[in-house]
Amino acid sequence: MGTESAPLTAPVPGPATDPGLDAWRELPIKQQPSWSGTDEHRRAVDELAALPPLVFAGEVDILRQRLAEAAKGRAFLLQGGDCAETFEGATADKISARVKTILQMSVVLTYGASMPVIKMGRMAGQFAKPRSSDMETRDGVTLPAFRGDIVNGYDFTEESRRHDPARMVQAYHTSASTLNLIRAFTQGGFADLRAVHQWNQGFRANPAYKQYESLAAEIDRAVRFMEACGADFEPMKRTEFFAAHEALLLDYERSLTRTDSRTGLPYDTSGHFLWIGERTRDLDSAHVDFLSRVRNPIGVKLGPTTTPDDALALIDKLDPNREPGRLTFISRMGAPNIREKLPNLVEKVTASGAEVVWVTDPMHGNTVTSANGYKTRRFDDVMDEVRGFFEVHDSLGTVAGGLHVEMTGDDVAECLGGADPIREEQFDDLYESLCDPRLNHRQSLEMAFLVSGALAARGPRA
Ligand code: PEP
Ligand code: MN
Repeated sequence: MGTESAPLTAPVPGPATDPGLDAWRELPIKQQPSWSGTDEHRRAVDELAALPPLVFAGEVDILRQRLAEAAKGRAFLLQGGDCAETFEGATADKISARVKTILQMSVVLTYGASMPVIKMGRMAGQFAKPRSSDMETRDGVTLPAFRGDIVNGYDFTEESRRHDPARMVQAYHTSASTLNLIRAFTQGGFADLRAVHQWNQGFRANPAYKQYESLAAEIDRAVRFMEACGADFEPMKRTEFFAAHEALLLDYERSLTRTDSRTGLPYDTSGHFLWIGERTRDLDSAHVDFLSRVRNPIGVKLGPTTTPDDALALIDKLDPNREPGRLTFISRMGAPNIREKLPNLVEKVTASGAEVVWVTDPMHGNTVTSANGYKTRRFDDVMDEVRGFFEVHDSLGTVAGGLHVEMTGDDVAECLGGADPIREEQFDDLYESLCDPRLNHRQSLEMAFLVSGALAARGPRA
């Protein structure tokens, strides 16, 4: 968004009426709420369909070009944000801390790897969650499971857990205000590279902060040198930043799909990049069908049970024209599996001639329960999966194209370990996530330094 080449007055898209966009309604579908067919549901869907798009088709096209560069190893994708955004959490402080952290991580990566970093938030739409069970039981009371703020509330009461279609409209408005703030931050001076120092927070005693400070000082020196030489800093004052979420709730995605007036093609204007989760990626399912029909770049999560045939069939369905930047595979194998399972997938996909962006999600295959009952991840496991991902691509001569992490800009305690280690005892006070555990601000920076080292070691691509 806010790219240098996106038209300021993008044409307003019209309703998307292509009948194929509704073919998913006849297909097997998982993980949907139980509100279909009610008056409330119809009202919410009609309201969404009449609201303005959240993103423009021109921005989406630019992202596809950027991702094509990542597939070739000439750019690197950084995707980060909450497991589940919440309505309550969409505050200026929290949004700015997250954007700042992504900017910091991206500076670390850009500097270490000397290549452009595509910045993307799991933000402004990441409200729907797949669940392993439909119901949750506490102290003998059974209620519908929490499916994210776009479907129901987290409080364990009958009223809050009711599937409420009006929440889709609230998700839209929350996404709009989040995007508005992100656009202001990334276009209005906050992302100016000359402010690298100001993005840092907390005590310099932390190893990641210290390392960041010395990197920021180097950048400062380089910037002053360039300034003294009379260089033009316009491009450094702003940055592109894209919005992404799991396209889980197809009512919402379909309602926000519009026909681009320039090309006559359908774009899902709820976000720039949409991904299909590990639980909803069946080839003949509603999710794969719907996303095969929109022009956005699409991601698919690939867990440890994915076979090469699954991956090849997904490519045929989602990227039949082998269009650079169209398809991203986000592997989430788990640290113990990645070195064993990923090579076969990458080899077979590469041999087929398809060019996808390979991204590592080192979070979702490494979830454990702590002794005191919290869903957590060990920072060492997360780091090990990232290392394994780079090793696999290095040994095959293929491209490690990006990193997908659940992270926050806040000082939470949800993942164990790190250089300034988080311990289980801290969970009682500092565990905030309603869903999966996120890297905190320091752990996120530490991760960026690891990846930056791996990128620098692999050297530049032609
Ligand atoms: C997620 O990204 O929060 C998620 C549920 O991931 P996956 O589909 O990989 O399990
Ligand atoms: Mn998650």
